[in-house]
Amino acid sequence: MSEETLLKVSNIDAFHGSFQALWDVSLTVKTGEIVAIIGANGAGKSTLLDSISGLVHPTKGSIEFEGKDITKLQPFKIVNLGISQTPEGRGIFPDLTVLENLIIGSYNRKARPFKEQNLQRVYRLFPVLEERKPQLAKTLSGGEQQMLALGRGLMSNPKLMLLDEMSLGLAPMLINELYKVLREIRERGITILFVEQNVRRSLTEADRAYIMETGRVVLSGHVAELREEERVKKAYFGA
Ligand code: ATP
Repeated sequence: MSEETLLKVSNIDAFHGSFQALWDVSLTVKTGEIVAIIGANGAGKSTLLDSISGLVHPTKGSIEFEGKDITKLQPFKIVNLGISQTPEGRGIFPDLTVLENLIIGSYNRKARPFKEQNLQRVYRLFPVLEERKPQLAKTLSGGEQQMLALGRGLMSNPKLMLLDEMSLGLAPMLINELYKVLREIRERGITILFVEQNVRRSLTEADRAYIMETGRVVLSGHVAELREEERVKKAYFGA
């Protein structure tokens, strides 16, 4: 695995109106890693992802991607640089077909020339999406919709995928399947930063993790170390 830093978030604060959702948050992701952000409802995980993708602008600190300052860039420019975000709740268009939803993912300048190639890549990872391509997205099952959301993210030809609560509401077998695909995506050279409420799952699937509480990072490290941390065992494993 490369040791190159792909994403560097340094000491950011972020607000929703007058409410401060992030306090001095720092995080790094290296090329080829799978990194998890763990925390309870309202800990600030989505706000952190939104700050990286440009939907929320931090009031303090900086965010660098491949050494370039992206702190104040607009979301579409950040997508062009190679960051895709799959939001919680999937964010697909229910009244468009599966294929139309996928194509929307390739509308940025950098990805357009690779549309066909990326489509084939998505179909290889998720054969069910090829079978269902003329179907309206709203007719897919919850798991298939999640696959569609991931597939759409891949259509933008990302270097880094930001995934919010991918497994929410899905059956365990399906969740296993999705995480298997994540590992395949990583093997194809795409780095992954994912948000997850399920601590056990995160500490199994990721290489490293950041644990957030009320807008702050309270612990971070390699997952094997975190699994042995007394604070983690007490708070999450009832030890
Ligand atoms: P969840 O797992 O529930 O999505 P989270 O860890 O992703 O939680 P955030 O969604 O980042 O947490 O929210 C962090 C805090 O910011 C919460 O207290 C939330 O109520 C608040 N917040 C989020 N979005 C807004 C908004 N648009 N306006 C006001 N407050 C907000």
